Amino acid sequence: MGRRSSGNVPELVERAREGDPRAVARLISLVEDASPLLREVMAGLAPYTGNAQVVGITGAPGVGKSTSTSALVSELRSAGKRVGVLAVDPSSPFSGGALLGDRVRMQDHALDREVYIRSMASRGHLGGLSWTTPQALRVLDAAGCDVVLVETVGVGQSEVEIAGLADTTMVLLAPGMGDGIQAAKAGILEIGDLYVVNKADRDGADQVRRELRSMLALADRPEGAWRPPIVKTVAAKGEGLDEVVAEMDKHFAWLSESGELQGRRTRRARDEIEAIAVTALRERWGDVHGRSELDDLAAGVAAGESDPYTAADALLESFAD
Ligand code: GDP
Repeated sequence: MGRRSSGNVPELVERAREGDPRAVARLISLVEDASPLLREVMAGLAPYTGNAQVVGITGAPGVGKSTSTSALVSELRSAGKRVGVLAVDPSSPFSGGALLGDRVRMQDHALDREVYIRSMASRGHLGGLSWTTPQALRVLDAAGCDVVLVETVGVGQSEVEIAGLADTTMVLLAPGMGDGIQAAKAGILEIGDLYVVNKADRDGADQVRRELRSMLALADRPEGAWRPPIVKTVAAKGEGLDEVVAEMDKHFAWLSESGELQGRRTRRARDEIEAIAVTALRERWGDVHGRSELDDLAAGVAAGESDPYTAADALLESFAD
């Protein structure tokens, strides 16, 4: 349908900006499908982006990410904020609403027009969160979301990727999920701007908090650096989420004042540009569509007829044509 509907892009962008959920959904589908219309869509959205606070929510399966996300949506909504939720499944090639369909808690918000909830598969196309998630974030941002929560679904090595996309990274822990050292192993201590010890109604929450606090204290933070707070919650009962929102706000204020917001966003845009450029290069040398010049060059290198540097030069030269 590509070309035929391209005349509708300005209208679609306009409707999405006005907050029409169907237009938002349609634009995110274009992102998932790697539609050729995206170029025009992104150009149309660009002037309206940059307002939403992107909050990444990460943590081991079972700590309460989806419960917390839903509770956070309620908290943000009662503060009058427009909220987007992207549930990203880095391990699934499937897309659509299936994942969220069985995430019953989110249905509390299903009828709220000020909440956009979307699950996305991110590995189906051309590489990870780097490409699809930032573009979906742009759509939600331009649609007027004040906050976009990005939650990872399923198991994956996605913590660090999420941190790269977010303005604020929230790391969830819970008692009874294995000892705190696990957290350190996962590299979680480096990425959190805000730590949440969920399931505070269970034994061991204070101990998790103490361990976390002493581990965080070991980090070498320069003068003026952000010191990540630790908040206890009972997400299942909506307790402590007001404090989480307050800390999110504080972090956003710090980001803005320190210049770090611009720094993070520039780094994010850099990764995004690189991902798009690399995708375009791969498409040109046919890596996506089967046998290619790259395959021929690789066969030559494997056979000892050429070396990888000469082959890489030949590949790059082929773009000059
Ligand atoms: P996720 O895998 O990280 O998204 O975790 P879920 O949100 O699906 O929660 C995993 C389980 O923990 C579910 O059975 C929740 O009902 C439960 N849970 C979530 N928050 C709390 C809490 O604050 N206290 C207790 N006791 N259970 C919770």
